[in-house]
Amino acid sequence: MAAGAGSRKARSGAMPLHVAPMLAVSSAMPRDQSDYSFEFKWDGMRVVLLAGDGGMRLETRNFKDVTRAFPELSPLGEALQGRSAVLDGEIVVLGGDGRPSFGGLQHRLGLVDEKAAASRAREAPVTYMLFDVLYMDGRDLTPLPLEERRRILEAQGFDGPAWRVPAAYHGEGDAMLEAARENGLEGVMAKRLGSAYLPGKRSRDWLKVKLVKSADFVVGGWVPLSTGMRGVGSLLLGYYSRTPAGRSESDAEGLVFAGKVGTGFTDRDREELAGLLEGLPAQDSPFERRTGEKGASYVEPVLVAEVEFRGWTEKGRLRQPSFKGLRRDKEAAEVFREDA
Ligand code: AMP
Repeated sequence: MAAGAGSRKARSGAMPLHVAPMLAVSSAMPRDQSDYSFEFKWDGMRVVLLAGDGGMRLETRNFKDVTRAFPELSPLGEALQGRSAVLDGEIVVLGGDGRPSFGGLQHRLGLVDEKAAASRAREAPVTYMLFDVLYMDGRDLTPLPLEERRRILEAQGFDGPAWRVPAAYHGEGDAMLEAARENGLEGVMAKRLGSAYLPGKRSRDWLKVKLVKSADFVVGGWVPLSTGMRGVGSLLLGYYSRTPAGRSESDAEGLVFAGKVGTGFTDRDREELAGLLEGLPAQDSPFERRTGEKGASYVEPVLVAEVEFRGWTEKGRLRQPSFKGLRRDKEAAEVFREDA
């Protein structure tokens, strides 16, 4: 356990109105696995649950209220029975093979109409994978060591038709990664024993160890289908260059072109994306250099796409990228190149 971890206590205090979730750093498997607790990495959408007198609210990383999009999770609010709680987890759609399907989640968002939300919930039900507890019954639990928070979370017996607390294992990184591979999951998260929860921080206390390279990119332009059908043929992708040490991420300027992605889309994706992009025309290219892409239309760089890929070419372009879906819970300004 980290020095001093045992002395950290929960604090009494008012429940926060919002919580920015703690974020992880990409990494290889840590050498000393005995210092970490390992969990599966779920490919879905990060959601914080805030429950109190007024009922339950579900919020994305950028504080969007998505409660109404997930009616199958409202019984979780009822299960909390008016207690105050803030929980952290990932909402996933499990495909027929039991693997999370990021694409399946796409059509669950942006629904305000109750009937439509209910029918989508039947078509593609979600599971909320709860992995942390930040506040409970009037106490701020974020200063507590990871294993203490975990103990409190597990003691609540959260296990329902659409939510659960997936297991965590101390020091079993290699076995977990192998199990992730066998089950077609993205990878594992290694969380340092003794570490506190740091809201809004990307910390090395949480490491994401991925089996497949995937990252988020800003959509800066697109090329229509060459078949004459309405739809996106490919997306032009970019990321913001990392700023010199000491400057904050938001000081970054200039979208660096990372190449284009033309596969991985369903027909429905191609059409829906065309609809979104037609509404975002830009006079000038948002990229800092010419991309040289023929027939490209440039757009306001606001959409964020998740892409799987095999690495980078010498010219700094994505190798064999494949589209996975839009990240509606992430702002374009947060998109930097990650290499692991
Ligand atoms: P990435 O989106 O690939 O950068 O991975 C980081 C994201 O993984 C986090 O922001 C979470 O949304 C998600 N995640 C999936 N499983 C976990 C987990 N067990 N613990 C923490 N974050 C997780």
